[in-house]
Amino acid sequence: MTLRPGRLVLIGHPVAHSLSPKIQNAALRAANIQLTYELLDVAPASLDRVLTSLAAQSAAGNVTIPHKSRVAEHCHRLLPMAQRTGAVNTFWTEHGGLVGDNTDADGFDDAVRDLLGTLPHDAEVGVIGAGGAAAGIIAAIERWDACRVRLYNRTDFHARALAARFEGIATVARSVRDAVAGVPLVVNATPVGMHDDTLSIPLDALAPGAAVFDVVYRRGGTALVREARVRGHRAGGGLRMLVGQGARSFERWFGFAPDRDLMWEAVRDLG
Ligand code: NAP
Repeated sequence: MTLRPGRLVLIGHPVAHSLSPKIQNAALRAANIQLTYELLDVAPASLDRVLTSLAAQSAAGNVTIPHKSRVAEHCHRLLPMAQRTGAVNTFWTEHGGLVGDNTDADGFDDAVRDLLGTLPHDAEVGVIGAGGAAAGIIAAIERWDACRVRLYNRTDFHARALAARFEGIATVARSVRDAVAGVPLVVNATPVGMHDDTLSIPLDALAPGAAVFDVVYRRGGTALVREARVRGHRAGGGLRMLVGQGARSFERWFGFAPDRDLMWEAVRDLG
């Protein structure tokens, strides 16, 4: 924990869509902390230079698409969840070097509890995507009681690498339909649907009682969430996860929990 970061940023590429400034700035104002959470669009080629500069400024912040694994490689110290996932979504500066953690797993748990009322047990979950968000989600599922993951990703090699990290929990499905057929919960962990109505999951392949969680959030809801609800599925978008992971990040940076209800109020109508 840095008691008072010099700067608070979200690093990503792109980042303009992010609602993290809304939730974090609401929490900062409520806690009377004189910092503004800034968006920092960092192209991959500039990432190492920017991280070195942020460490020199005692910065803290979040990391999003596509930088989570490269930031993990850059950190001097990783907390256990960042080590397990190989993905950092939360960082701060300690003794001039970056420390990384991953709060996506806890945020995902919050979202699933909100969607289902409880965490599943003895169940398979279909996860689409094999990037940083998927790593946090599988790490969360690994902690659930006797649950496994069927993983599908457009680049098979990335799915195999992630499944190898979670051997015994995740197996790679041959197709997206194989990943989602017959399971009680399916998760989109790709950015598909952020800017248009493309569906990452064929909804006709789902079991009738299956629930759908989309990491993506979008004003009015993503097409995946809207169409799943029309078909009678319980479905939720990424806002609950956003607030859950963001509240834990705030706690890492400042050492106390933010007003989570206020963070939720700041975005609840935007997804
Ligand atoms: P990432 O590490 O770059 O991984 C992206 C994943 O999505 C990869 O598996 C990639 O497949 C796949 N993908 C990208 N574009 C695709 C497309 N057009 N069709 C099919 N698959 C595609 O990114 P990330 O950090 O995991 O983030 C993924 C999404 O989750 C982003 O939209 C991010 O904003 C969102 N997210 C939301 C929350 C939340 O709190 N709600 C938290 C974390 C992330 P390849 O391996 O083939 O490239």
